[in-house]
Amino acid sequence: MESADASADPGEDPDITALIPVVRRVIRARVSDPSAAEDLVQETLVRVLGAAHRIEPGTLEPYAIVTARNVVASMWKERDRHRRNQHRVLDLSPVEAPDDELLRQEDEKAITTALERLSERERQTLLAHEVSGLDTRVLGDDLGLTAGAVAAQLNRTRARLRVEYLLALHDISAPTPQCRPVLLALSSGERRRQREVHAARHLLECDVCADLSLPLMSRGQQSDTEVRVPIHDAPDVVLARKQARELASRLGFSGTDQTILATAVSEIARNIVRFAGKGVVLIEMLDDPRPGLRVTASDTGPGITDVDRALRDGYSTYNGLGMGLPGARRLMDEFTLVSELGRGTTVTMTKWRQEGTPHE
Ligand SMILES: [Zn+2]
Repeated sequence: MESADASADPGEDPDITALIPVVRRVIRARVSDPSAAEDLVQETLVRVLGAAHRIEPGTLEPYAIVTARNVVASMWKERDRHRRNQHRVLDLSPVEAPDDELLRQEDEKAITTALERLSERERQTLLAHEVSGLDTRVLGDDLGLTAGAVAAQLNRTRARLRVEYLLALHDISAPTPQCRPVLLALSSGERRRQREVHAARHLLECDVCADLSLPLMSRGQQSDTEVRVPIHDAPDVVLARKQARELASRLGFSGTDQTILATAVSEIARNIVRFAGKGVVLIEMLDDPRPGLRVTASDTGPGITDVDRALRDGYSTYNGLGMGLPGARRLMDEFTLVSELGRGTTVTMTKWRQEGTPHE
């Protein structure tokens, strides 16, 4: 087993933080949707960092500007693919990986139906959050609500969506008027509400709800302070970095640090897709000794033969596109990599919130 353990090395890092404003300006001038723009900013930074070792230090900024323009130009194709993958981002499917085309179509149809059963406002808020990646603070500003109120509303909407999705997928209508309230209470995990609607008794009497409630209840137990994102393909990478950003925002990380963190997560998740094909990214909120985020990415891929070399600058783990491991390590405060040939690789990295600047 090989391992390496190091803090981000100081040395001759390109000053990526200084590039963020100009990259953001170039992109925002061309892309009005703030969250789409932010994704492109991250994408640009990944590419610039990946190329940094072969660029004259003085030309880093112009290089970043050209790269930003290119990234915007190639976005439109990406966007189409992204739209086709919206249903994946909502992560509702009980089917692990619907390879079967028919299954996939049924799944999409059920989600479309479920979305139609939400109110316009519920639907818009949910999609703005899940698909466009707007965080609860930004949404709250738009809606005149606190971030906490938006989060609660999103939880209720997701709970409803899960219920409507299951009903649509199995093509059944609720047999009694009590069914929906019971299923909703189970889906949202609100115990008080479950007692109010006598959920337990209803499950004994109603076979339909008894059948449907199992997947609903297992979903309600997700922790609020950690997110686990299974990684199979590109949309999962997008989801992982959105989740990282959301948790970082909740912890009060500066906008710059949110971007840096999302960029590092993006790189690590991409490595999984390219080399292992399958893995998982776990993002955890920490509060000791101060607020921070720990990201653990594990895969069961082939492993890395030469860990020291993989962490050396200029060694790109895949053909010059992206910065790979050295870049991710540089962006984080702590970084550990353990790889076992034939068994897989685990990267653990942590970033702490900077003291004194809760928001930019
Ligand atoms: Zn029922």
